[in-house]
Amino acid sequence: MTERKTVLIRYDEIGLKGKNRKYFEKCLLKNIKRELSCSDDISYRSPRGRILLDIPSSFAQECTTRLKKVPGIASFSIGVSMAPDFEAISALGVQWIEPKLLSAGSMKFCVRTRRSAKSFPQTSPEVNFEVGSRIMKQLSSKGLTVNIKEAEFVLEIEIGRLETVVFDNREPGLPGLPVGSSGNVLCLLSGGIDSPVSAYMMACRGCRVHFVFFDNQPFLGRGGYDKVLRLAKKINRFQARATLFVVPFQDMQSAIRDHCNEENRVVLYRRMMYRIAEEIADRYHFLALITGESLGQVASQTLENLAAVSCVTTLSVFRPLVGMNKDSIINKAIEIGTYETSIEPQPDCCSVFMPKNPVTRSKIPFLERDEGKIPWEELRDDALTRMEIIKVDDL
Ligand code: ATP
Ligand code: MG
Repeated sequence: MTERKTVLIRYDEIGLKGKNRKYFEKCLLKNIKRELSCSDDISYRSPRGRILLDIPSSFAQECTTRLKKVPGIASFSIGVSMAPDFEAISALGVQWIEPKLLSAGSMKFCVRTRRSAKSFPQTSPEVNFEVGSRIMKQLSSKGLTVNIKEAEFVLEIEIGRLETVVFDNREPGLPGLPVGSSGNVLCLLSGGIDSPVSAYMMACRGCRVHFVFFDNQPFLGRGGYDKVLRLAKKINRFQARATLFVVPFQDMQSAIRDHCNEENRVVLYRRMMYRIAEEIADRYHFLALITGESLGQVASQTLENLAAVSCVTTLSVFRPLVGMNKDSIINKAIEIGTYETSIEPQPDCCSVFMPKNPVTRSKIPFLERDEGKIPWEELRDDALTRMEIIKVDDL
């Protein structure tokens, strides 16, 4: 039994990044190191096109679970690092295959070699043959056959310039770009199903996603607040180092409710949220706003209303869910583990103040006329002064 294992990590899209490749690789390596910092017994190296880790065997399971949370990994394998010696590799193959073969009675297998060190004297097909025939010599009488197309067991050999890794498994990773490689963005995070999914999607595009929650707790109790804290923490598992801004929104909402046209309320709330979010983004140099809006999902998400909201800010506004239907958003939320928290009962910030007939095609001059009836700049600045700033890593 080997005491140490080697993890071979394949990048996702970084592989395509020409001159910036080093930068993306560094980001990914840093994120992996942070994710695995619970063990101090790991050595890291990054030969061209791969990241290799040397871990204690006992850490393999935990390592697998953790690597699946790091965006930017196409797949990874856990195996053994050894000299490119055909006898030794075949012996290891026999050791792995034999117990499975004996319990199954017969098995189809093949050897697959990838040779990144082109200086290695044999070609990949030659290595396949050398190792495969040695294994067959020992196990063909026990029911082992070679079948490249329908192999039930694939022994993989990756021959690098400095080391060779042998493995029999491939775990899918979390594709996309390494967090931090694109920049910082600010996600408007409500307690619902959609916005956590949109934050996650941007994290997988290399963004570090920070959060802003507009809290109207005096009306709703602490439920929404606690929920958002937990959601932020769950999404932060994919990235780390996020900040959550909690903005007291009750005064702004009450002013809108009491002085503006009822049918415009939701769009007006949203315009104020965007304005406050823009102020925060400017202060912290965040490069875009992210929301969980999806076209046509509710009255406030028609093309006209989305435009009426976007136009209050000069920042880019990204809505990664815009083309998704609710079912696929829900499936994604289940997959990333936010759904259970999102569906806990909580009166939505806007639904408490929901108009009976919300406008579906708002007209900017009418919205501006409504906004003229309240001291919104003052309310915005006051909310920003009272804003709570939370480091999500510390939660
Ligand atoms: P969800 O709440 O899951 O985003 P939803 O369908 O309830 O989905 P809406 O309430 O219409 O969405 O809100 C649209 C978007 O506006 C949200 O996805 C979120 O980005 C933002 N938003 C709404 N309410 C708040 C809030 N209280 N704090 C921060 N962002 C909010
Ligand atoms: Mg909502």
